[in-house]
Amino acid sequence: MRIVDIREIAVPLKTNMRNAAFDFSEMTTSVVAVVTDVLRAGQPVVGYAFNSTGRYACGAQMRARFIPRILKSDPATLVNDSGTNFDPAKILACMMQREKPGGHTERSIAIGTIEVACWDAVAKIEDKPLYRVLAERYTEGGTQDEVQCYVGGGWYHPDKGVEHLQDEIRHRLAEGYTTMKIKVGGATIPEDVERIEAALAMLGDGNRLAVDANGAFRRDRALAYAWSLAPFGLRWFEEPTDPLDYALLAEVADQYASPIGTGENLFSTQDIENLVRFGGLRADRDILQIDVPQSYGVVQFARTLEALQAHGWKRSSVFPHGGNQMTLHIVGGFGLGGCEAYPDVFGAFAGFADDARVDNGWLKLPDRPGIGFEAQNELYALMRQLA
Ligand code: MG
Repeated sequence: MRIVDIREIAVPLKTNMRNAAFDFSEMTTSVVAVVTDVLRAGQPVVGYAFNSTGRYACGAQMRARFIPRILKSDPATLVNDSGTNFDPAKILACMMQREKPGGHTERSIAIGTIEVACWDAVAKIEDKPLYRVLAERYTEGGTQDEVQCYVGGGWYHPDKGVEHLQDEIRHRLAEGYTTMKIKVGGATIPEDVERIEAALAMLGDGNRLAVDANGAFRRDRALAYAWSLAPFGLRWFEEPTDPLDYALLAEVADQYASPIGTGENLFSTQDIENLVRFGGLRADRDILQIDVPQSYGVVQFARTLEALQAHGWKRSSVFPHGGNQMTLHIVGGFGLGGCEAYPDVFGAFAGFADDARVDNGWLKLPDRPGIGFEAQNELYALMRQLA
């Protein structure tokens, strides 16, 4: 049993949305195929993944270091002890050879994307959906068959007012979602308060609305937003500070009693540990938003969860970044708090299986083997070119 080839292409996301920090006009993602010599129904098993959204394609690092390390290694060192399947922990260790501690983002996204594609292959070889494979290995007490799912949306569209935002929310409620996240910080505070009031008029309860500042605020603005948002009792206030400014985050948490969410721009177990040690976050209410394919993948995420548990955090506090099927399986398999969805925003890279339906805020986990990209027609058309 061996990995025959690993292929990558960079695909543009083709979207002009913006948040408080940047626009997506040049955004790309790496699509990866891990081709194996294992046959199922007469065809070689191929594992697929992409590097989520918000970080650029990273094929250069893959081609220079991580793909050659895997292809050059003895195939017997990459499989489990009984030789019945690939072992993603061993594949991760193989990619990490001769890598210096620290400096995570330069490699964590490339490694994590390949690692998640290996998991797709592992689950296909077991002929099970990935969430079930993950639950068997990492979650005592078996699996859930649906997860809570909220919409990450409410982007700024130049020249469109709050009516446009309300139309978007009306549309999502009609699709079966109950909880919405909208952007803040790309306008003035009074304009954002007007957006929040307009959103709450549709959603009804502050607990059904989160806001996302995308790490764009310096101290004065972060605190001014915290004071302005406090009366609304929102579900969470996301990335009120630079992702690495734990001192300022602690200051905001001290002034803002409602939940805070952050973590999508941290890429290692050590960074997340530092966040919960020094960021003033509260395990009884705050939300951690690790992006698994961008932070070394599933095996390392399991280690991060162990570290979090040692600091008193529960899995239900983790809402991973990335509204895609990779995240959906990880949420279901590890029994996390919930999943994000980005309907219609990142082209082929947004959303779940074409036949997936949300019911009163809950999304059923798919039963196709692996991650199930094969049931996302537009995305799978891109992926299959690689194999
Ligand atoms: Mg965010």
